[in-house]
Amino acid sequence: MKPADASTSAPAATHTDEVIAQAKQVLLQNYKQQPIVLARGEGSYLWDAEGRRYLDLIAGIATCALGHCHPGVTAAVKKQLDTLWHVSNVFYSEPQIQLAARLTKASGLPGARAFFCNSGAEANEALIKLARRWQHAVKGNAERSELITFEGGFHGRTLATVTATAQPKYQAGFEPLPQGFKYAQMGDLEGVKRLVGPTTAAILVEPIQGEGGVKPAPAGFLKALRELCDANGLLLLIDEVQTGIGRTGKPFAFQHEGVVPDAFSLAKSLGNGLPIGAMVCSDEVSKALPSATHGSTFGGNLVACAAAIATWDIACDPATMLETVAKGEHLRSLALAIKARHPGRVIDVRGRGLLFGIELDQGAADVLARCRGNGLLANLAGEKTIRFAPSYLVTREQLAEGLAIFEASL
Ligand SMILES: *Cc1c(COP(=O)(O)O)cnc(C)c1O
Repeated sequence: MKPADASTSAPAATHTDEVIAQAKQVLLQNYKQQPIVLARGEGSYLWDAEGRRYLDLIAGIATCALGHCHPGVTAAVKKQLDTLWHVSNVFYSEPQIQLAARLTKASGLPGARAFFCNSGAEANEALIKLARRWQHAVKGNAERSELITFEGGFHGRTLATVTATAQPKYQAGFEPLPQGFKYAQMGDLEGVKRLVGPTTAAILVEPIQGEGGVKPAPAGFLKALRELCDANGLLLLIDEVQTGIGRTGKPFAFQHEGVVPDAFSLAKSLGNGLPIGAMVCSDEVSKALPSATHGSTFGGNLVACAAAIATWDIACDPATMLETVAKGEHLRSLALAIKARHPGRVIDVRGRGLLFGIELDQGAADVLARCRGNGLLANLAGEKTIRFAPSYLVTREQLAEGLAIFEASL
């Protein structure tokens, strides 16, 4: 850093300015980054490098289910760090098995089994491979390789999952995209039926489109997809990466709809911020991926599994889930009151549990920037929707504080 020039009145560059300047030199410029440097977190609060405090109502990015540096999860991680970090998946290790036992038991899938990976995209990649190989190798349907997915959805950034993500803005420039994906409209059962044919393998759907704008599937739609899959020999695959482990008040959001998928994916909240993903499937479809057909070097990393077990035991405790529902309703009532005070400005209020969106008429990015300036972090889902996905341990007071900042920032 150059010594400050006493002859000018320009303010000296802050530490934050320097960090951001260096970031612009050395990091791939693939993210639209907010101009703050986050340095420390505790529960629902974050502090930046200048010591300014923010109320974090997006919890990382719907990842830190129990808030930042939760003491119980931190203790479990520290214990595992002192015991064993990582072994190859050609050996057994207990944290993986204990985590799989929790996920599979809660899932309701017959004879459920879990596969561990490191991210949401990888978990969805496993779903796609599972579906194709089940049709090809187990059912002998060599022609059935297509997946039907939904416009406005989001499934990840690998080539297959970005192709499953039916939004041109994520796909542009990466052609040729893998073959075998067709897109339907969320809620349009007749449209889905028109796409089903002799080459269809599976349907992949989010119970609530998260990145696409916090848009829940219409009531009964998942059930109708289940029936369509059963009638046509297709697998129903559910992407629970954003909705999973307790965020909506049930371990998995499909459980609100009375459906049981053949397989589903998890990631975001699973490790409370440590990278871990999972694919859970029924015993029947697990036959598609026998020995040596799929794998991951780091999947099921023991430190990440220890974090996930500690997170699960709190996040999916019945008392926590009741509170998640109640706090979600509190958030809804606060948001509806704001909508009533700002007709035309606030267009819609949507969500389930603590996955929540407030759609504006316009200028959502500007509102978000003002929220940040006023000490509140949320994020943008779709073009016009401000997304809230706080820690399940957020308090009602913090929700009220956050929504007051949001209203003042409108
Ligand atoms: C975030 C997200 C993904 C991608 O997860 P990554 O960990 O970024 O690969 C996939 N599906 C849904 C629904 C998501 O919200």
